[in-house]
Amino acid sequence: METYTLDPLFAEITALRGVGPTLAKLMARALGGDRVIDLLFHLPETYIDRRERSLIRDALPGQTVTLEVDVISITLPETARQPTKVSVTDGSGFAELVFFRTFPQAKLRPGTRVLIGGKIDDRRQIAHPDHIAPAGQPEQFPGVEQVWPLTAGLFAWHLRKAMSDALHRIPAMPEWHDPALMKREGWPSFADALHVLQAPTTMPSPIIRRRLAYDELLAGQIAMGLMRRRSRERPGRPLTGDGHLRAQTLLAFGHDLTEPQREVLHEIDADLAAPRRMLRLLQGDVGSGKTLVAILAMLRAVEAGAQAAIMAPTEILARQHARTLARIAPVPSALLAGTVTGKERARVLEGFADGSIPIAIGTHALVQEGVAFRDLALAVIDEQHRFGVNQRLMLGAKGEQSDVLVMTATPIPRTMLLTQWGEMQVSRLSGKPAGRKPIKTTTHPLSTLGIVCDAVARAISRGANVYWVCPMVSESEQMDLAAVEARYASLSERFGPLLGLAHGRQDTNVREAAIADFAAGCTRLLIATTVIEVGVDVPSASVIVIEQAERFGLAQLHQLRGRVGRGEAESFCLLLYDDQLSETARKRLMLLRETEDGFRIADEDFRLRGGGDLLGTRQSGLPGWRLANPETDEGLLHMAGRDAEALLTRDPALESPRGQAILLLLRLFNRLDAFRTLHSG
Ligand code: ADP
Ligand code: MG
Repeated sequence: METYTLDPLFAEITALRGVGPTLAKLMARALGGDRVIDLLFHLPETYIDRRERSLIRDALPGQTVTLEVDVISITLPETARQPTKVSVTDGSGFAELVFFRTFPQAKLRPGTRVLIGGKIDDRRQIAHPDHIAPAGQPEQFPGVEQVWPLTAGLFAWHLRKAMSDALHRIPAMPEWHDPALMKREGWPSFADALHVLQAPTTMPSPIIRRRLAYDELLAGQIAMGLMRRRSRERPGRPLTGDGHLRAQTLLAFGHDLTEPQREVLHEIDADLAAPRRMLRLLQGDVGSGKTLVAILAMLRAVEAGAQAAIMAPTEILARQHARTLARIAPVPSALLAGTVTGKERARVLEGFADGSIPIAIGTHALVQEGVAFRDLALAVIDEQHRFGVNQRLMLGAKGEQSDVLVMTATPIPRTMLLTQWGEMQVSRLSGKPAGRKPIKTTTHPLSTLGIVCDAVARAISRGANVYWVCPMVSESEQMDLAAVEARYASLSERFGPLLGLAHGRQDTNVREAAIADFAAGCTRLLIATTVIEVGVDVPSASVIVIEQAERFGLAQLHQLRGRVGRGEAESFCLLLYDDQLSETARKRLMLLRETEDGFRIADEDFRLRGGGDLLGTRQSGLPGWRLANPETDEGLLHMAGRDAEALLTRDPALESPRGQAILLLLRLFNRLDAFRTLHSG
């Protein structure tokens, strides 16, 4: 059997021509990874066909056009602020090229004929054309151009250059798909598909992306199939307890369980007590009290003499869980996160390994190599949609027969659940703890900012803690950050030392401290970005102001709003919007005023946004998927599920020639862990 090496694909992008450390950093941000394969899997979201020539007369405002024109004259600027303007004509009409900074004099001499590519506006001006080439040398002009998702400071030409090098590094590999399927779908090979999508000479057919989407989905389904087989082979173990730890914990917590919490815990207990491995999803709207349920479930594992772990998507959240556990649970627990280092890290790892620390709390640091447990019986994954597919599977794999409880506030379509977990039981936690009043949601145009500030000041003087959320959404993080800091500055005139600041570009400990100060009441008004979106629990906060609310997704607004209404005080959510608001945007905000039901909001959001984009390459925004979109590729997903099942039934150890090729596929998509876990013990 021939051996194939995928090493070139897993080399760092700095190995590519023209990619130095600075560029590599920028690229990694856009790609979500720093390997050659991450670049190859970074598909264009769309393409511009520059081959078709337009006439100036027919060009529509806003259109990206290619014109073949004669340069008539050049108007140089009189002051530094004015642009250079170049008049051109193609016989059908006149247009103007506008340059504010550098002006490519040599290419645009009067009397020459040139090809121009760029976006034309309603005054027939093209500001800073994307491309200029002599009309006699059309080969210097791009044909079909890739439009990749980029980040500030990163340009398409950076990627184009690196990409052509990356494409050459794709090694020879055997085909892993069934030849009959390939023929029926008209699919090219893996390497050809990447060539066509990443360096196109004509507009790529949607069939090409389907091939790669299928690769990714199949890798996922096979990994899942392997995991399922593993859990079938290794039965779980019954976990029971006398309830003494739970009773002490509830006493320290100070409230009884709500009826829905009691019911859900009952379902979980039945799973834990059964000699099967549990795989259960706890779906509960924001603020419904999932954490307490998770803690009590973990204590059952401890009562049974074993260990339990809870993994959260951010350090803020992990630390919050750690504080809660330290406060109410009568057994040792410890936090493991990226910032836990040195002696403390050694102590924690030792405690997990020898079992003296029965409860582990952490970020994805928990699933790293080198983290071991004496006897992990229950793995809880909070806000599971925030994790990559592997990370989710790995925590449970740290125990011999671990039960797994995953939690989410975001309703997940069934197909999505199937792709990410396979068959699983679902518990729903509805309603909120008793005594909660509905959150009053109101909308305000930005021009009434002064009135909003007055309301905030009144709320603070009545004892409320207030979040003030600024969006982080624009192309440039620098600009976003500037906006947050500007708001901080303008509000600090009025609120002075009561003000706190938390955003994602701060050092973790600075951010943690800001949130801790706010939770302790040392600061009363916290200017924050969406770093507070998931899970943050400060019950004394009862007002949230969200700036430019129209820029957030509805589900995200619902999550943000869920930061308040966690105590007994009446709560308020003030949505500020730009004075000019589109009809759809207005409807979306109205919906939030109408309902607090997260499930209804998710449905409506999907409806209002409409499904998918033209090429279907835009990702669903769910982590873990780079080429496929399980929602829109549902047909492919089911195909992949059947394909994987058939293959694993015939060749469970992946020893056949196709099985061996599939191992390459798993490696490409980082799913080899599932195979190794299965065959290691
Ligand atoms: P989520 O489901 O959004 O993760 P949390 O677990 O953070 O919600 O709980 C929301 C708030 O409700 C927290 O402040 C928590 O302490 C409180 N809480 C949870 N259960 C109860 C209960 N049974 N009685 C009173 N308060 C509760
Ligand atoms: Mg939570």
